[in-house]
Amino acid sequence: MTSYASYKQQVVDICRQLVEKGFLAGTGGNVSVRIPAEKAFAVTPSNYDYMKMNPDDICILALDTRVIEGNLKPSIESSLHAAIYETRPDANVVIHTHQIYASAFALINQPIPALFDEQARFLGRSVEIVSYAPSGTAFLKKNIVAKLRNHCNAYILQNHGAVCLADTAERAIFNVQLLEKCALTYLLALCTDKKVSRIPLVVREIAVSKLRKDQEKAASPK
Ligand code: 13P
Ligand code: ZN
Repeated sequence: MTSYASYKQQVVDICRQLVEKGFLAGTGGNVSVRIPAEKAFAVTPSNYDYMKMNPDDICILALDTRVIEGNLKPSIESSLHAAIYETRPDANVVIHTHQIYASAFALINQPIPALFDEQARFLGRSVEIVSYAPSGTAFLKKNIVAKLRNHCNAYILQNHGAVCLADTAERAIFNVQLLEKCALTYLLALCTDKKVSRIPLVVREIAVSKLRKDQEKAASPK
């Protein structure tokens, strides 16, 4: 057992829960957990079946993506995860999925506005589209960094999938689920051709300011 054991276990546990809930399948997507004391993170290996993943398979990387520990090739999105930890000190867990309903918005290239109180409270003002760039490239990393300063906790990658973040594993998994609920209901509402109502702006802003307070607390020195 190394000092990274609990972080590796946490990554595996998150993946298992996301597979059980249907948000991860096969080898698509990737998951990471920050290691605050070391400017490092634990991340899933690349192209590796979640059903056979165990803690020994998890890679430990420095925030500059140098491999600290691990025998397998780290996720091709490792630098995207690292960039999120560098840019968003409130993020301790990052989950990238190819979840179906959020991915529908990745195809129509349309953000999800504030539709529900809990959405504004936990995901932020809106779920924005990160402009397309090929998977695993510095271009994709650059495009997400450009959006991260909106302090939201969910993003849609154009023609690709979704990224959710949070201060804890529990909250990050919750955010993945909440994003999918918002995407599915918005998609159904759009199909009716009727006007889709949004929450009042004042309510949205109160919820967003509560989220910002939580984020500031999570970002305070670790
Ligand atoms: P990895 O298997 O390398 O993590 O890639 C999966 C993926 O979703 C790329 O965007
Ligand atoms: Zn992907």
